[in-house]
Amino acid sequence: MAGYLLKNCAAVITDDGAGPVVRRNVDLLTDGPAIRAIGSNLAGKDLPEETITQDASGWFVYPGLVNTHHHFFQCFVRNRAELDWTKLSVIEWLDRIYPIFSRLTEDCFYHSSTTAMAELIKHGCTTAFDHQYNFPRHAGRRIVDQQFEAADLLGMRFHAGRGGNTLPKSEGSTIPDAMLETTDEFIGDCERLIDSYHDADRFSMRQVVVSPCQPVNSYRETFVESVRLARDRGVFLHTHVGEGESAVMEARTGRRTVDYLEEMGFSGPDTFYAHCWELTHDELRKMAASGTGVSHCPEPVYLVGAEVTDIPAMTAFGLRVGLGCDGAASNDNSNLMHCLHSAYMLQCLVSSTRQYPVPPPVDFLGFGTTGGASLLGRSDIGRLSPGMAADLFAIDTRRMDYVGTRHDPLSLIARVGIGSTTDMTMINGRIVWQNGEFPGLDEERLCAEAEAALATIAF
Ligand SMILES: [Zn+2]
Repeated sequence: MAGYLLKNCAAVITDDGAGPVVRRNVDLLTDGPAIRAIGSNLAGKDLPEETITQDASGWFVYPGLVNTHHHFFQCFVRNRAELDWTKLSVIEWLDRIYPIFSRLTEDCFYHSSTTAMAELIKHGCTTAFDHQYNFPRHAGRRIVDQQFEAADLLGMRFHAGRGGNTLPKSEGSTIPDAMLETTDEFIGDCERLIDSYHDADRFSMRQVVVSPCQPVNSYRETFVESVRLARDRGVFLHTHVGEGESAVMEARTGRRTVDYLEEMGFSGPDTFYAHCWELTHDELRKMAASGTGVSHCPEPVYLVGAEVTDIPAMTAFGLRVGLGCDGAASNDNSNLMHCLHSAYMLQCLVSSTRQYPVPPPVDFLGFGTTGGASLLGRSDIGRLSPGMAADLFAIDTRRMDYVGTRHDPLSLIARVGIGSTTDMTMINGRIVWQNGEFPGLDEERLCAEAEAALATIAF
């Protein structure tokens, strides 16, 4: 694979491990999947013959964003007035949305994945974790396999969270019985996916995360077996926590969710929870002590009208925080760049009610990059430095949008926001989006195929 010389970048956000630093008027050179050098006048040095030079004047070059929570399949239920959270109780909403989810076909899972990943890439996301917990029996057993194929097509670095639900409605679940699996089926398919796809090597493009959907909708045994499997195979663990279920869990098990999970070992540096918006400071301290991470999804907080996640306390206690879009059932976009901006704005909104100060905008860039990489256990992504993966995006700042903002590239995304797609997104040393196109792919055709798949489940 040819390397790229991004020549004369207006700014590159570098990080050698001690925190982000802005370097002005430098070149960035890639070599295969990795960054080879960042510095002045690299063109004057010995470059491999096949290196492609790209004029990067005016470009701010950032590390690629890392999405740590999503449900790609939900892209097929976007922008629906009949699913308005402000007009429905949770039960009414579940009763409307699950019949739709249960109709999705294998094709729908593939095309909803291309839909979500295309939008993610256009907005600077280079690694995506998806929490796929919907396995209608008629859709077959190769849903996650389809997602790996979709990621391959677009060139996205993909961590597949194999979700699942095992508890019947008669025992307190909110999931229709027709969508349940047994613990053995769930664990068996996790094992199959790990055997078939999980690659733990540096610059890996495919990993598997054992991700039972949420404690309220599965038997305890499902979580115990998930811990056993993940630790045995050296893969990560993920689930939803603190999104309104803690009191239900306490009534059912005698423990709120954080204690319930910690008691069975579903916590630690290899574990990250989505949301955590209703957790107490004591619970957050426990998570910090065990090294458990949080995927903060700000936009569902707006749409669902949830309690605002206490990011200042999380960072004060030393929790690892990453960002996620979440699925379209509670966030209609797959734009992590937008989420990074809204995450900062959301904390500012409630800052006067907080015990701890809102972290500065640059820390939110950190949540979206190094924070996400840490949650996924990746030491090779999230930062721009020689030897790290060439996962990055560029914004041409020679536009009216950026007048008066260019003095502080570190705060730009969180504080100002980026209203357009990137000018270029590179993943693993390959340009996957540039000048409004996915090189080698026909976006109009991808779009038509996705709409055709969606039309088959007309609702
Ligand atoms: Zn979710």
